[in-house]
Amino acid sequence: MREAINRLKREKICVLTGAGISQESGVPTFRGKGGLWEKYDPQIYATMPQSLFTFLHSPQKIAEFALDFYRVLLNSKPNFAHIFIAELERRGLVEGIITQNIDNLHQKAGSKKVCEVHGNAYEFFCVRCRCKEKKKEEDIKEFLERMKNIKNKRFKLINEFIRFMGKCKNCHQRLRPNVVFFGESLPQKEIETALFWLRNTRTLLVIGTSGVVFPVANFPYYAKKAGSFIIEINPEPGFEKIADLVIREKAQKFFERISQEF
Ligand code: NAD
Repeated sequence: MREAINRLKREKICVLTGAGISQESGVPTFRGKGGLWEKYDPQIYATMPQSLFTFLHSPQKIAEFALDFYRVLLNSKPNFAHIFIAELERRGLVEGIITQNIDNLHQKAGSKKVCEVHGNAYEFFCVRCRCKEKKKEEDIKEFLERMKNIKNKRFKLINEFIRFMGKCKNCHQRLRPNVVFFGESLPQKEIETALFWLRNTRTLLVIGTSGVVFPVANFPYYAKKAGSFIIEINPEPGFEKIADLVIREKAQKFFERISQEF
């Protein structure tokens, strides 16, 4: 604990977060108990091109998935871990936050230097010029309400989705969700930013990631090779092989414990 506190106080750190940091905000990890993948097969709902096929043939399935997923997301709030990391950033102690999460909770907590390597569930991007558009929470809620009332009308449901996603303001091409599906490449700009931070940080804080999703699972190894000190915060095993410091605790509890020292 002492070593972790000293490092967090002394030097600019880089933070790598996964689903675990948002677990105490009410967003379950996908693979954990009660997680989304227990109910929905990721092969059908989150893998390209299969999910596009599901969307065109059984949009009702995608509608149910979207309802379940956004209901959780829209009810979640940043927890103390997100808030404390944002506070460290305000104090100039954070080089950057690399997150695999798509829940927008780091930004909601006030963090600015967030690199979302798997996208953001509130954003949509243009398939041609890649410019992004963020939807308001009220608009998403309204869309979900509309979808609930469309039963067994395939084309109406597809049209509703397409209308909601909308068109690019610059080049009028269709928008699509800004979420990286299994089998898709990670966004180039975000990867470059993440690798830059990982190369240059002296301390990497790895929070709530199991290390099974690639290429992000390689990030701690990359930072380690560049000379970084690795601190892992996770109640379950993950990166203990390379971590210099392992804290087997939930993220929120850890930050609550150390917060008195700041
Ligand atoms: P994962 O589900 O594979 O692993 C989650 C990890 O968090 C586990 O190692 C678990 O032990 C740990 N954990 C659970 N509760 C914790 C807590 N309170 N504090 C600290 N650690 C805790 O998650 P992953 O490695 O991020 O990979 C899953 C993929 O699914 C990612 O690509 C991510 O984009 C996506 N995902 C995102 C969200 C979200 O946006 N909140 C939620 C679920 C999954």
